[in-house]
Amino acid sequence: MELLYEGKGKQVFLTDDPDLVVFRFKDEATAFDGVKKESFGGKGEMCATITEILMNLLEKNGVRTHFVKRLSNNEMLVKRCFMLPIEVVVRNYSAGSIAKNLGLKKGIKFPFPIKDLFYKSDELHDPMLNDDRAVALGFVTFDELDVLYNSALKVNEVLSSFLLEKGIILADFKLEFGKFKDSILLADEITPDSMRLWDKDTLEPFDKDRFRFDLGDLLAGYRLFLEKITK
Ligand code: UDP
Repeated sequence: MELLYEGKGKQVFLTDDPDLVVFRFKDEATAFDGVKKESFGGKGEMCATITEILMNLLEKNGVRTHFVKRLSNNEMLVKRCFMLPIEVVVRNYSAGSIAKNLGLKKGIKFPFPIKDLFYKSDELHDPMLNDDRAVALGFVTFDELDVLYNSALKVNEVLSSFLLEKGIILADFKLEFGKFKDSILLADEITPDSMRLWDKDTLEPFDKDRFRFDLGDLLAGYRLFLEKITK
């Protein structure tokens, strides 16, 4: 297969069908713009499994995604999208950059889900945008932003309630979207690399913060998360 793109966490390959590409999840974990990097055997497979489960759940609840089908332990077939160069973050609890930038304690519950936008650029370290900036710079239209925000809030509702039933708090997460023909699809991955997931009782993280801040065995956290959501 011809490699179309390689990122920090995945490779994308062309297929015979111009509308479909293969996503292969890598075993590497990276943090802080790739400064911290380590390989974890089996991580790619777990991330593929988690993305498959959560995208299927979202599709069942009316969110349109790029997911088509699982191909192998670490590969899935997806619709080939024209990716929007922005990341949509939804936050239910304070953590990460919002806690750091605003001097907040970690773990404060917000009165409503906060939506943040970032420009995808490793070079510029993913600077924060707002609606006007994103539209004025030509990344999206206001109508498209409405679609992204509505979809992101729906994803938050569906995932938060599903996970809470499994004893997990969805503190925040990042989504990426792409254009496919005339529609906008939820694309990329939904994994503990792109979400903050805390044990409901102990607030222990299951996600990549284990790796970012040396809070425990990364694979063990992902495995535990997978066990909880498949029980
Ligand atoms: N996130 C991500 N990719 C990025 C930046 C953030 O997947 O390039 C996720 C991150 O894992 C967290 C959420 O988005 O679940 C919010 O991240 P935040 O803005 O707090 O940034 P961080 O401190 O994680 O860099």
